[in-house]
Amino acid sequence: MTTGITRRDFMNGIAIAVTGAAGFGFSGARAADAATAAAPLYPPGRDGLRGSHAGSFEAAHRLRDGSPFDITRATLTEHHDLIVVGAGISGLAAAFFYRQRRPDARVLILDTNDDFGGHAKRNEFVVDGQTLLCYGGTQSIDGPGRWSSVAKGLLKDLGVDVHRFKRAFDQDFYARWNLNQSVFFKSEVFGVDRLVRRPFGTWQELDENPRDGASLRAYLGQFPLGERARAQLYEMIESDRDVLKGKTPQQRRTILEHLSYRDFLKQYWDADDEVLKFLQTRTHELWAVGIDAVPASETPTLPGLKAQRAALAPETEEPYIYHFPDGNASIARLLVRKLIPAIAPGASMEDIVLARFDYAQLDRAEHPVRIRLNSTAVDVRNAARGVELAYVTGGNVARVGAADCVLACYHAMIPYIASETSAAQRSAQHDNVRAPLVYVTLAVRNWQPWHKLGVAYIDNPGGTFSAMLDFPVSLDGYHFSADPSQPTCLHLMHCPTAPNQGLDARQQYRAGRARLYAMSFADFEREIRDELGRMLGAAGFDFDRDVAAITVNRWPHGYAYTPTPLYDDPAQQARRSEQARRRLGRIAIANSDSGWDAYTHVAIDQAHRAVAELTS
Ligand SMILES: Cc1cc2nc3c(=O)[nH]c(=O)nc-3n(C[C@H](O)[C@H](O)[C@H](O)COP(=O)(O)OP(=O)(O)OC[C@H]3O[C@@H](n4cnc5c(N)ncnc54)[C@H](O)[C@@H]3O)c2cc1C
Repeated sequence: MTTGITRRDFMNGIAIAVTGAAGFGFSGARAADAATAAAPLYPPGRDGLRGSHAGSFEAAHRLRDGSPFDITRATLTEHHDLIVVGAGISGLAAAFFYRQRRPDARVLILDTNDDFGGHAKRNEFVVDGQTLLCYGGTQSIDGPGRWSSVAKGLLKDLGVDVHRFKRAFDQDFYARWNLNQSVFFKSEVFGVDRLVRRPFGTWQELDENPRDGASLRAYLGQFPLGERARAQLYEMIESDRDVLKGKTPQQRRTILEHLSYRDFLKQYWDADDEVLKFLQTRTHELWAVGIDAVPASETPTLPGLKAQRAALAPETEEPYIYHFPDGNASIARLLVRKLIPAIAPGASMEDIVLARFDYAQLDRAEHPVRIRLNSTAVDVRNAARGVELAYVTGGNVARVGAADCVLACYHAMIPYIASETSAAQRSAQHDNVRAPLVYVTLAVRNWQPWHKLGVAYIDNPGGTFSAMLDFPVSLDGYHFSADPSQPTCLHLMHCPTAPNQGLDARQQYRAGRARLYAMSFADFEREIRDELGRMLGAAGFDFDRDVAAITVNRWPHGYAYTPTPLYDDPAQQARRSEQARRRLGRIAIANSDSGWDAYTHVAIDQAHRAVAELTS
């Protein structure tokens, strides 16, 4: 981390002409831990340290630390048909499916955060009079062609036609502005600060995919790596050399499933240390951990695996264009508008983008569905009339009852709140160690430096944040920044890993989580300022002048754990996954954790299964 930048520097730089989305002052003073409490009521418009924000996790951590709440003094005040714990996509979908089966059902949804959506969070700004939207977590509808009929059916019920994105996502944007991928080599790791733009391929192709050997050579020639590393990279990308020659497809798969990609490169390619450093973070985006903890079978498009691709049969990728301006927060908002129609006007996937949500409608006795934020479930058990649940809000314990309950919170939380869980089930739930990661949204006054450099994405293998321009999506009245002189959002990603110390994925996730909780907004801000300055400074980027606001979406419990043969025995895992989500009387278990995969369609499918368990 760099030092010497004060909060005052930051505040002075951004206090002018930035208004919060709710029309409140949106000054730099709010971009600080201490100031979050004073933020306006409209949650998507809050900046500073968000995601798992102050006030949202303390009650849960108190349970973890063995200090339960006294729930005996609170009287049971309400009775519902269903209580859902967790207002993420899975919890909201569970409420929706339950009411599909029982249209008169009264439902209470609790969430510990001050906004609904779980990871599917909306970040909203007004900069120089222009509304900017971005996503604080769940980014896109990934591969909708592969979604189950249940998940596709939900999209249809919500009015989402994914074909609409073919026009909404400006697919010519990158070619029109000549923007491509790039790599920032940071001096602390590579000896020199250097931004290298990839001169071939399209922005959509993350991996090297040269048109011809000469342009690949020219590209690699700019890397501040030794001759051996560059020659190796060239061969790994370009040649068909089969390092597993003579093996059957099954033997190849077995080898690659039980070797990390890093170990595969070391063992079969004798990879130079600089090659490994360059590729170390290539798996962050999907796995939130580096190449030392992801099996080579999961990285078929990365260098060195060309000859193995046929055996690995990678899925055909659908274009990555199924994106609302606020990511899958639009799906959460569509669900909430269906559940509580009074919250916002409108009825389409287009008008949800700018629909103004009245948060005062979330928890009202006159609505059959109520969403209660800032409320952490701390105890749930089967009782004479179904279930009883205690939650903590504002430091006080409250108790409610219901006929049924869906726990759509993380698996890791369940052992601390559901005392009826057996030791074996608890152990299986604890195995689902979520991956920590951070999505930062920066509202900037223009993107001229990006245009000047001809880049839309900057990989940063030796540093903290990768960075990219927001996706060029326009829907209904919302328009993506039309040219480089206009405000837009930048998206930065950080995975707090602990690589190459012999730690498995779970151990790295736990270590990273502890680090994230220890980082303040000022820590993030210093690092962002330093790295962006070094990446874009030569093209005229001035942090104080150009950055209007920062929202750090911190997710210590991020991606649901995805088992791999590297660390998990597939046969045993199937049994443990089933055991972890097993129903406890009238308490069913949803969440993407129950499907052991970090995707929106998994969160939806698991909600559907949990509701079926209670209503069939
Ligand atoms: C940064 C990031 C990017 C992602 N990008 C994508 C993407 O592009 N596409 C995709 O398909 N998926 C993506 N995902 C995966 C994402 O997790 C799922 O798509 C989906 O949003 C998960 O929904 P969920 O309801 O299962 O869990 P969550 O969103 O985690 O919701 C669980 C909710 O339970 C609440 N909760 C926990 N404990 C309690 C308690 N005791 N009391 C009350 N409430 C509680 C939490 O506050 C949270 O709101 C991403 C995830 C992250 C973290």
